[in-house]
Amino acid sequence: MVHAPNRPPAGAPPVRINLYSDTQTRPTPAMKEAMMRAEVGDEQHGDDPTVHELCDRMVALTGKEAAMYLPSGTMCNVIAILTHCSKGDEVVAHETSHILHSEGGTHAALTGVQIMPMKGPRGMFTADDVRGAIRPKTRYAPPQRLLEVEQTANIGGGAVWPLAQLNEVAAVAHEQGWSTHMDGARLMNACVAAGIAAKDMVASYDSVWLDFTKGLGAPLGAVLCGSEEFIGRAWRWKQRLGGSMRQAGICAAACIHALDHHVDRLAEDHANAKALARGLRQIPGVVVEEPDTNLVFFDIRDAGMTVEKLQAKLQMRGIAVSGLGGRVRACTHLDVTAPMIEEAVAEIRTALAAA
Ligand SMILES: *Cc1c(COP(=O)(O)O)cnc(C)c1O
Repeated sequence: MVHAPNRPPAGAPPVRINLYSDTQTRPTPAMKEAMMRAEVGDEQHGDDPTVHELCDRMVALTGKEAAMYLPSGTMCNVIAILTHCSKGDEVVAHETSHILHSEGGTHAALTGVQIMPMKGPRGMFTADDVRGAIRPKTRYAPPQRLLEVEQTANIGGGAVWPLAQLNEVAAVAHEQGWSTHMDGARLMNACVAAGIAAKDMVASYDSVWLDFTKGLGAPLGAVLCGSEEFIGRAWRWKQRLGGSMRQAGICAAACIHALDHHVDRLAEDHANAKALARGLRQIPGVVVEEPDTNLVFFDIRDAGMTVEKLQAKLQMRGIAVSGLGGRVRACTHLDVTAPMIEEAVAEIRTALAAA
């Protein structure tokens, strides 16, 4: 059976502290107001003024020439890879990357690329690692076409790639004639945590996208950015995959609202994540990775409990966490407050004490 994440077991109370994912935020009343007021048109036709405004905002934010609104981040990755690569090409990406683990096998099913899984701590690799991954340009070897990075690195612990390292790995890729793509699902978390403007953070990347459904709190939507030429070709793939929309401005308005009101506040999520890590570290047997941003990963093997068991116990107390890469993941976001963090730490302590 296909796993339905976060479906509460029978008898579980409603979730009151939702640390499962930063995707689970609910649109705020002010965001819904902005959606109601949105001017709309036919997006597929290029007639939706609110979608145009969102794309213009993203062009200004990222310093790229053009932008395209899409329903999801996964669709941004799939379309970017289809646009940069041909079947049989190779993409160099970290072994923990979303494109390898969380897109339903899309590269076997749809794009036809293969992915070289790079190693390295916290979802990152170095310029030397990329040099080590360069294949000879022979007819035996798969043609290498694209370097992909995640900013922040999700399974890497929400880690922020240092800007110098982003630029160094991209420089090696460009020397080889490869393109570069940034999965910026949580790009603004990285920018806020590092105090670096988005356009500087993404300057070495030919394409980049931002998810509006992670910490930014919109109900759907992601925007892919790149050169005019790249976005022009990407539009054909958007059409082929059924990603063209109609009165999408109603959703784009939520994204614009998020850019205006939900970016600076990501610093609160990062402070809450640090507080959560501090609290968890006091619990015997819990090994916590220090969070850079809003994702807190912890290992509970020494506490004598499995991730699934802890999840189930917490669910009966109205608290949701996820399991990822063999650890527990707790995400902070718009709907998580500092008092909830204290309560979650106390509940996790109680649950583990029973082990
Ligand atoms: C969530 C996520 C995606 C996919 O975005 P969706 O909007 O859920 O399709 C891609 N990459 C990373 C790193 C993510 O965390």
